[in-house]
Amino acid sequence: MKRDLNMPIKALKNVGPAREAALKKMGAESILSLLRLYPRSYENRGDVKRLDQTENGEKSALCLTVATAPKRTLIKRGMSLLKFRAYDESAVAEITYFNQDYLAEKFVLGESYRFYGRIERIKKASGKDSFSLSSPAAEQIKESVSELRPLIPIYPLTKGLSQNIMSKLVGEALSIISASGEEDPLPSEIQIRNKLCGRSFALRNIHSPETFSDLAAAKKRLIFEEFFYFALGIALQGKKRTVNKKARVCNDKEISPLLSLLPYSLTAAQQSVIEEISADMAKEAPMGRILVGDVGCGKTVCAAAAMYIAVKNGMQAALMAPTEILATQYYKDLEPIFSELGIKTRLLTGSLSPLRKRKIYESLVSKGEERTDIVIGTHALISEGVSFDDLGLVITDEQHRFGVKQRAALGDKGRGVHMLVMSATPIPRSLALTLYGDLELSMIKEMPPGRQKVDTFAVDEGYRERINAFIEKLTGEGGQVYVVCPAVEEKKDDDEGDILFPDIPLSGDIREKTFEKKEAPPLKSAVKYSEELSLRFPKKTVAFVHGKMKAAEKDDVMRRFAIGKVDILVSTTVIEVGVNVPNACLMIVENAERFGLSQLHQLRGRVGRGTRKSYCILVSDSRGERAAERLSIMKNTYDGFVIAEKDLAMRGPGDFVENAGGIRQSGELSFRLADMCNDGELLEGAFSAARELIKASPDLSMYPAIKNEIETVFDMGNKY
Ligand code: ADP
Ligand code: MG
Repeated sequence: MKRDLNMPIKALKNVGPAREAALKKMGAESILSLLRLYPRSYENRGDVKRLDQTENGEKSALCLTVATAPKRTLIKRGMSLLKFRAYDESAVAEITYFNQDYLAEKFVLGESYRFYGRIERIKKASGKDSFSLSSPAAEQIKESVSELRPLIPIYPLTKGLSQNIMSKLVGEALSIISASGEEDPLPSEIQIRNKLCGRSFALRNIHSPETFSDLAAAKKRLIFEEFFYFALGIALQGKKRTVNKKARVCNDKEISPLLSLLPYSLTAAQQSVIEEISADMAKEAPMGRILVGDVGCGKTVCAAAAMYIAVKNGMQAALMAPTEILATQYYKDLEPIFSELGIKTRLLTGSLSPLRKRKIYESLVSKGEERTDIVIGTHALISEGVSFDDLGLVITDEQHRFGVKQRAALGDKGRGVHMLVMSATPIPRSLALTLYGDLELSMIKEMPPGRQKVDTFAVDEGYRERINAFIEKLTGEGGQVYVVCPAVEEKKDDDEGDILFPDIPLSGDIREKTFEKKEAPPLKSAVKYSEELSLRFPKKTVAFVHGKMKAAEKDDVMRRFAIGKVDILVSTTVIEVGVNVPNACLMIVENAERFGLSQLHQLRGRVGRGTRKSYCILVSDSRGERAAERLSIMKNTYDGFVIAEKDLAMRGPGDFVENAGGIRQSGELSFRLADMCNDGELLEGAFSAARELIKASPDLSMYPAIKNEIETVFDMGNKY
């Protein structure tokens, strides 16, 4: 019987039920997926040293000849030692194995072996140091050491598997590759264009490389594959959204009536984004686009243009924001403009009365004059009662994330709706591709003219009095202040939306309420700080927001801050990313070392939104080098994209994504070999190859081998 890579692992000689179970636990079901369990590292045994060149404690490879017959001694009950001496031209070493009596036969007097292990070298006054090795790996040298593999794979293991067993199994699996003459699933054009080696070569050399350059070539090919299959996987997901769905073609793309109502003219970046959007909407295939741009770059007007186009072409549009405050802000910004244009806009949030809600529901399915054209709201928009006469465009603002599901739930309320996602986290291109690879990417990298630079200072506790004096001065001039303390742990509360306001007691006039409710124990330093602030500024109103407050209470504090009734707002985490309080002119971040760069950048973006000269003070007593580096980046960099890239590079994608608002589960981003920061070029190549392939064969029926690979890859646990 011809054996192939799709056979189950139990087809291997050395796999019985126990090993089968262990391998399955690691995600290996088929022979191919066993080969996808790549080594986690390699021992470099190719770099053979002489004993006298080694250093104490160093791991090294040595070629030694056995000088004495292995001698067994019992040290304790059940414990034995095997000892012998072996030499090279420079010295003699004592070699010891514990409890491995069977090795006595393996080592033959006068034969040479390549040993690999940690050397113990003890200095002797005579100059003749003593050398010893404890339980080193050993391979017999027949002719010359060059016949032995230089790089030895180290596998991730689970109970029931050892390095030796894994090597053996992989070796057998590799022999199947060479015997079966597998075809490479990756079309040769893609291989050539991206300068990749073939799959067989790659699999053989990731496990058993002859040279470093072979290993590098293998890795490159396999990293490309990871990105490529990942890209195809999400492209297929995107296809599911649009397949057999025709969107309404929006032929009327004239937006000058809308533009004439704006008090400013569009930036070049906004113009080109709006062109991309209107070109998408003029196609039969539904738009799937993500607009990425730093807070304040002016995404709202792009969304407005899209909604205007939808309505002009007879359809309805929905805009979903993650919180009530943001939804209301959008409504306040947009309703007056749309109203001038004769477009009916409604705000739908969870806090409306049932009657009011029903009225809106009715108006959404009405025809003609009565119909609501644009609805702006929270996830109340995806509740069951909501349906539309003719929903054609869905926009979600993912300042904090809705996730694919909610996005889709809103989209499902129409047929083949156009979809626009907005993200205020200025994610680097490579990450955007990975997170939102099912969507086309638009970026705004330019700020509207006249934006002021927020002066940023990094200080330590020694500056406390000066900071307080500064608060005094700015509030005295009528400005408002944000104070942010680092997040304390907190469980995510479902009805809380996605804002993470960790536990913190309230202060000022809303404090009693919270203590009455016996909230979780307060964080001491923050309490102290709030009390300090209230005492220090008796004439000012100090308020707190925290995560355990009801959404309505939280909204109330935010609203009072927005209308200037609160002078100093203390919160424990990212204050609503999109909240716009132009009168706020000072942002103080306590324990700034605890925040990610992107988070700090977003916090800083809360101020400098009006005419007041604005400041950001990062307070940190941390003496760490990394902390210092991060704070100095904040002092010197104002471009959100640059900051995001540095953040990504310093912390890796998982942490970055978590802290940048938890865009998607970071688990989805853990590749086996690939590293988004360093393999950006391969990533782009892989994504563009995936797109071409999907174009050529939308369901991949032309590429059965690739389909099979995607299944293997996506089946292997949550690695992808
Ligand atoms: P975000 O991208 O964070 O959603 P907004 O759309 O809320 O940003 O815009 C931030 C501010 O910039 C708003 O006050 C808006 O009116 C203003 N703005 C947007 N575009 C321009 C422009 N081209 N010129 C001047 N101001 C602009
Ligand atoms: Mg916005």
